[in-house]
Amino acid sequence: MTRVPVRDDLSALEGYHSPQVTVDVRLNTNEAPVGPPAAFRDALSSEMSRIEWNRYPDRAATALRTAIGALHGVGPEQIFVANGSNEVLQTVLLTFAGPGRTVATFEPTYQLHGHIARITGATVVEGERAADFSIDMNEVRRVVEQSRPHVTFLCSPNNPTGGVDSPSVVRDVLALSPGLLVVDEAYGQFADWSAVELIDEETPLVVSRTFSKTWSMAAARLGYLVGPRWLVAELDKVVLPYHLDATKQIAGTLAVRFLDEMNERVRSIVSERERVSAALRALDLDVFDSGANFVLFRPRHMGGRAVWQGLLDRSVLIRDCSGWPRLADCLRVTIGTPAEDDRFLSAITEVLS
Ligand code: PMP
Repeated sequence: MTRVPVRDDLSALEGYHSPQVTVDVRLNTNEAPVGPPAAFRDALSSEMSRIEWNRYPDRAATALRTAIGALHGVGPEQIFVANGSNEVLQTVLLTFAGPGRTVATFEPTYQLHGHIARITGATVVEGERAADFSIDMNEVRRVVEQSRPHVTFLCSPNNPTGGVDSPSVVRDVLALSPGLLVVDEAYGQFADWSAVELIDEETPLVVSRTFSKTWSMAAARLGYLVGPRWLVAELDKVVLPYHLDATKQIAGTLAVRFLDEMNERVRSIVSERERVSAALRALDLDVFDSGANFVLFRPRHMGGRAVWQGLLDRSVLIRDCSGWPRLADCLRVTIGTPAEDDRFLSAITEVLS
């Protein structure tokens, strides 16, 4: 069979990989360590039996958008929902980026921002973060003045470094950026504030969120954004019709009824995060402050890759960022259950000794 050539601008593109291997303790993809409450599963099964399978689902996903909007004190017309926040970001980029347009990221950050932007045909301009991985306003000014980006990304808490951008940083970037500012808050519930409070009809700002982490629903593939009404209406024109299946709409609508349980899970993960961070610091590692459900750290006396392999040899899988640009020797561990975190901490103590 003859291979037909892919688009010229895609031929050099690498796919996005997150290696999965079978291990006892999997702390590499920032998932929630426990599933949603049993009452959620029961409610979902009984609702599923009522789906009219011969009919298309509600195209506007009104019940789901209303339920999510209520979490943020806004109406359904300010909520756009898609199959994971990755698809939310893709729809934003299809709408506001694309050929001839520019997208700015501040690296290191979530790799999919630049990756999806390139797939839409946009030019990606990579600004640098400061040495502690915080946003450097001089660099933002430089990038924005030189490239006039149509879309600028912040990620707060930032994956993979964990830092939270303060309200003044987000306000300052918003004031400088000439186009749309996207704040990716996939880990937003673990942080102490949200940029959702800055959203209004006059401000070119959207905030994306996901059900994959705090809601313990990575399997559902459900994400959303909060934004101005006019902007959500534009996204609705771009996304495929009936992109959200009936099962997912029901699952999301039911999930938000369990807000208290979700908040409880967040509290326990945050307290585990502080415990794990302190234990890693006690092992004389460089540990970056995290407002998320993971912690980035850098061994001082051993290569990052060797530490990662030593953990894998003990059946503990974490994320090896040591070969990523700007992250030499860095490793990222997702916070698990207390038992999983103990396994990780004793394995790394062994590896380092
Ligand atoms: N944004 C960030 C910063 C993430 O880390 C992730 C998941 N790794 C996503 C978005 C995508 O999440 P999902 O598509 O599962 O909603």
